[in-house]
Amino acid sequence: MTLKYCQGTQCHTYTTQDRLKGMKGSKTFQTRRRSSFYYGNDNFCSLNCQNDWFAEHGDQAIDHFGRTTEPKKLTEQNAWVKDYDYNYNNGNGSSRSNYRFVNMITKEQRPLTESQYDDSTYTLNER
Ligand SMILES: [Zn+2]
Repeated sequence: MTLKYCQGTQCHTYTTQDRLKGMKGSKTFQTRRRSSFYYGNDNFCSLNCQNDWFAEHGDQAIDHFGRTTEPKKLTEQNAWVKDYDYNYNNGNGSSRSNYRFVNMITKEQRPLTESQYDDSTYTLNER
């Protein structure tokens, strides 16, 4: 299992005991090293570390990959979402019914079967 370092720019400045390394007289707080991390696509040990990175490099990263300078638009053709009615039956469990597509712009509804609802690849959106 390969270990990797948290990419947080200030990780080593958070003075927790697990970051304290080395022998007496030469101890240092060090960047966390783990096989995996929960934050930022497996790159950061905490949300704090992710935020520190973004505060320092975020603008540069956005400029590098392309800053959004005009609104992206979700059109009628791509505004279909799946929906259903949730029926709660007095403690006897629950059921779903009336599966449908709803267009979030036009409010048009189109019927949907349960299996179409559960099929994540089934869509009316053109993409
Ligand atoms: Zn960290």
